[in-house]
Amino acid sequence: MDKKPMYEGKAKQVYATDNPDQLLVYYKDDATAFNGEKRGTIGNKGILNNKISTFFFNLLTEKGIPNHFVKMVSDREMLVKTLKILSVEVVVRNIAAGSLAKRIGWEEGRKLPATVVELYYKNDDLGDPLINYYHIRALGLATNEQVLLMEQYALKVNEILSDFLKDKKIELIDFKLEFGLHNGELLLGDEISPDTCRFWDTETGQKLDKDRFRRDLGNVEEAYQEVLKRLTGQKQ
Ligand code: UDP
Repeated sequence: MDKKPMYEGKAKQVYATDNPDQLLVYYKDDATAFNGEKRGTIGNKGILNNKISTFFFNLLTEKGIPNHFVKMVSDREMLVKTLKILSVEVVVRNIAAGSLAKRIGWEEGRKLPATVVELYYKNDDLGDPLINYYHIRALGLATNEQVLLMEQYALKVNEILSDFLKDKKIELIDFKLEFGLHNGELLLGDEISPDTCRFWDTETGQKLDKDRFRRDLGNVEEAYQEVLKRLTGQKQ
């Protein structure tokens, strides 16, 4: 890639294309955790996450969830629709883990009797704090209607992915989604991968996601490979 990226994040670079309606996303092997405090690389992560995200976006498109995905163009690149990203992250949780387990004092792995949806302010300087509708309105991050729609889509995504993954012997613990506007239309954006979801093996409880990197559990690349293999039957 010789052009300069328009934007570079922790795990991806974004390039302009000849078409102002479309961007090229390049998936890197870089991994960060704890708001950038822990840094490293995960071998082939860019390739694996590009393929896993492509798989999930295709599934969600099939099920009628409006999203930014256009097509995969190479091992590490996908073409997406240009979005004005809303600075609200939507997290959906089925099982207590990570920051929720800490916040409510539940042990990790305890099933939540009701699905939990949370909203976070996408702001690295502040470490993505938990917010609610009032904060969103006060900060002008999105309209109430947009937040409602994001929550609706997120719950639908949870149903689709949970059902699909169950057959692959993967439990969907929680995940984070980002949304943006394309010509005024709200679309699901970003990526859906082991970087942004918690996946546990249904039978063994083995973690198949970025917690292996965050917590130094080893076999990180192998876990991402295993997710791709269970989804598509292919290796990388
Ligand atoms: N997550 C993410 N990006 C973030 C924060 C969280 O993709 O900046 C995902 C994370 O992988 C998990 C879910 O959102 O699947 C819930 O994360 P949690 O709030 O438990 O935070 P963590 O324990 O990851 O810091």
